[in-house]
Amino acid sequence: MQKTPGKVFLVGAGPGDPELLTLRGQELLSLADYVLYDGLVNPLILRHTSAHTERTARVNEDGHRVLHQEEINSRLIAAAQAGKMVVRLKGGDPYIFGRGSEEALALTNMGIPFEVVPGVTAALACAEYAGLSLTHREHASAVAFITGHEDPLKPTSSLDFKALACFPGTLVFYMGLHHLAGIVARLLEHGKPPDTPSILVSRGTTPFQVCVEAPLLQLEEKVKASSAVAPSLIIIGTAITQREALNWFEQKPLFGQTIALPRAVDQVDPQIKQALDLGAHPVLMPLIDIRTRTLTPEIETALSHLADYQGLIFTSTNGIEAFFSHLFGKGMDSRALAGKKLACIGSSTVEKLKSYSLNVDIVPAEFRSESLATAIINSNCKGPWLWPRANRGRDVLPMMCEAAGLKIQPVVFYDHIDH
Ligand code: SAH
Repeated sequence: MQKTPGKVFLVGAGPGDPELLTLRGQELLSLADYVLYDGLVNPLILRHTSAHTERTARVNEDGHRVLHQEEINSRLIAAAQAGKMVVRLKGGDPYIFGRGSEEALALTNMGIPFEVVPGVTAALACAEYAGLSLTHREHASAVAFITGHEDPLKPTSSLDFKALACFPGTLVFYMGLHHLAGIVARLLEHGKPPDTPSILVSRGTTPFQVCVEAPLLQLEEKVKASSAVAPSLIIIGTAITQREALNWFEQKPLFGQTIALPRAVDQVDPQIKQALDLGAHPVLMPLIDIRTRTLTPEIETALSHLADYQGLIFTSTNGIEAFFSHLFGKGMDSRALAGKKLACIGSSTVEKLKSYSLNVDIVPAEFRSESLATAIINSNCKGPWLWPRANRGRDVLPMMCEAAGLKIQPVVFYDHIDH
């Protein structure tokens, strides 16, 4: 897909688990110039974009301030009119209790083109991550999505609780946590059986998910005694009795654990995925940054004398990337490595070289500098060897090789920078 300047995409971010973003949503984020996201969006989703990002709830001296709808609309309009490709990222689905259609109307009124990318709405995702089916065949032939935002005890409430109490299916209340007592009271008053199975799902689909189950009559009391917080969903109906058998999410091995990830931000994606897969909450705490050096005289010399080397040693994937970025930068390519021996420290470096269509000649059984040095010494290539490396690290490799009479030329191609 191509960048589309002057257009707004209303994109659903899913309910909390950042992996529930759609492919289309991810693609649009990667192309966007400006992203305006709301407070329910998991910030990990923002790693898919390099755009300027803004949150609709902003912190000022008085604490949080939520941008008014008019302010949100005018930001979207102004950014699109300035020729930007805009993503308006909203928790769950952009339209389901999300005011997405109001934003779309404001855009069309100004003649600004827009598209909508649906998202996984909280009702579906929270139920399934809690081990429930909203439409179990034997129990429910319908589902109602209801806003619990209004106080049902106020005479002005627009919800028809009489109809809801006899609705032939599962009831799902969004935004109902703070009106739980009123919602339960009105349903009971209109004849909903007090033993109807009910559940409140707090922070569903995240490692902080808490589910509180009770017969309708006792739900509020149990929720009060629990650690449930917003956002929470209330699900009521006889369909939701399979939790014991279907509760797959809370059984993940690291469910509820927080894991600090100290790697450089642009290299941490596999660990984020691993943490999420195990049910944990990844927190990015980059302690270092990895930066390829701009062309130095040493790099220049190494590349222009590449023909003099018999082999190359790579001890990190960063070294491989930095080396090739300079090689290509000089207008050279992999043919410059023809006939040279390639030595690597382990499986990631072997895989990385494969991505440049290069096979490795020497890789030690044990992924350590000492073993690599021994493997190089025992090979029939006497060097000299070029070793594209970081500004810091152990010197075991050149010391062992040189003691065995091999010439190793270390050249710093990239830096580890402390945060
Ligand atoms: N557009 C969103 C809903 C916005 S209204 C969607 O489609 O999901 C906000 C309400 O959604 C919250 O008050 C809560 O009831 C529900 N909600 C959103 N994320 C949730 C989550 N992770 N866990 C439980 N409820 C959630």
